[in-house]
Amino acid sequence: MASSNTLAAETTAHTHSSLQSVVWFDPSKLMIGGQWRDAASGETLSIEDPSTGLTIGAIARGGAADVDTAVTAARGAFDGDWGRMTATERGRILMRMSELVLQRAEALAMIEALDVGKPLHQSLNDSKALARYLEFYAGAADKLMGQTIPYQDGFTVYTLREPHGVCGIIIPWNYPMQIVGRAVGAALAAGNSCVVKPAEDASVSTLAVAAIALEAGLPAGALNVVTGLGAEAGSALSEHAGIDHMSFTGSVGTGRHIQAAAAGNVIPVTLELGGKSPHIVFDDCDLDQAMPTLVGACMQNAGQTCSAASRVLVQRGLYDEVKRRMIDIYRGLVAGPAVDACDLGPLVSAKQKTIVSRYIELGKADLNVAAEGTIREDASADGHFVRATLFSEVPPDHRLAQEEIFGPVQVLMPFEDEAEALRIANGTPYGLVAGVWTRDGGRQMRLARRLNVGQVFLNNYGAGGGIELPFGGVGQSGHGREKGFEALYGFTRVKTVTARHG
Ligand code: NAP
Ligand code: MG
Repeated sequence: MASSNTLAAETTAHTHSSLQSVVWFDPSKLMIGGQWRDAASGETLSIEDPSTGLTIGAIARGGAADVDTAVTAARGAFDGDWGRMTATERGRILMRMSELVLQRAEALAMIEALDVGKPLHQSLNDSKALARYLEFYAGAADKLMGQTIPYQDGFTVYTLREPHGVCGIIIPWNYPMQIVGRAVGAALAAGNSCVVKPAEDASVSTLAVAAIALEAGLPAGALNVVTGLGAEAGSALSEHAGIDHMSFTGSVGTGRHIQAAAAGNVIPVTLELGGKSPHIVFDDCDLDQAMPTLVGACMQNAGQTCSAASRVLVQRGLYDEVKRRMIDIYRGLVAGPAVDACDLGPLVSAKQKTIVSRYIELGKADLNVAAEGTIREDASADGHFVRATLFSEVPPDHRLAQEEIFGPVQVLMPFEDEAEALRIANGTPYGLVAGVWTRDGGRQMRLARRLNVGQVFLNNYGAGGGIELPFGGVGQSGHGREKGFEALYGFTRVKTVTARHG
């Protein structure tokens, strides 16, 4: 017992220094008005490494008072230096941020691997995506224009596309860097100031972005970060009367609260709430091309991806073949510590492991387990690892085929024809993305129109990818669009100016 405690203490010291050796700021502070500060309460929350279950540092437990200070700072920046800056200069600052992110890409990736449990090669991809979002919105900042509108003789009418003012942004734990990049990049490019509440389980990389923003010359108060609990800092931010727009990514349940809070203040809200996305394989497809994507589009980030292709629908003629090949892939999938190049890292928290494990037990009670992956033998028993699990011949109305699991679990099901594929695909409350593999051009066009989702992939599937591509859902997947140029419309409002000049 004594020796295992000693070992645990040594491991803690080692892991702790790994986080400390990569951060160049103090993660236990909030960023408000260009200054690092303690939470008003003076309290902190521990940072856990999901690969080991060990505490590796602390973040500030921000609350309503801190949110209020941050909103005031954001308003000050909007009414001051930041609000008066030209769009071109805003773009230059975002470009400098992008360059600094690239310079620190490896450190940011290590932060995410330690804090969120994301395998290093995947978190490095997230650092680069963050840099790309900032680069994209840097270039877009001074290309966002209004219109001139033909009107009655003697009038000139034009529209101004203006920022909302102060944007509240609430971020989940699954892709913190990418989601901060897409939200903050677009909000700042459009001229808003921001108050960001990252997830309690994944706050450090967002603080890193705030540090980088300051270094890049972003005026104080334009980007504020208040860490803390959802029920405290998050709730206070969503209800704050000083917020002009709210952008939320997370669960449907919390999304409802956010929309209700926004209704209270009568402000616009963008909700990105996840999905149960179908990946549809027709008999006539190029199966060799489809195969790696069928599994990869769900296993990325251990299935903790809003656009994960968690339902695989296969036409009868190819069903047995696809099942056989998926089984082979699953048997080779290894979960292990995030700092190693395993296929899957741990899930983000004990809570998430419990949720996902319950779904797997539920499935095992009445479904066929086609295949399972493995957990590396030397992985810590206190890490939140879950085996990749494939269920086959799953009825479309089964809970595992209807509910978002947010873990490394896929359901495989057969279908007869296009009509049935469409019925199954559209048969959940969600509608985020869909993938279709077929060589039939007419079918591609029909399904692209008839699938009830925000994004369709024809003969590819880019879970989470596509900085340039508008992204968002229908139904319980939410509303509003992020990413691409489209996001800039969400982060702005239109003012119509009618001039009578005879
Ligand atoms: P969640 O509660 O919706 O968390 C998302 C964000 O909202 C976090 O920053 C969270 O803060 C904050 N939050 C929580 N309660 C809040 C409240 N009352 N008011 C304002 N903000 C609040 O999601 P979760 O519990 O982390 O995950 C649960 C499930 O949500 C997952 O199993 C998955 O199905 C889904 N999910 C979807 C996405 C997506 O990309 N669409 C991302 C994450 C989760 P704290 O984390 O600090 O509490
Ligand atoms: Mg953590």
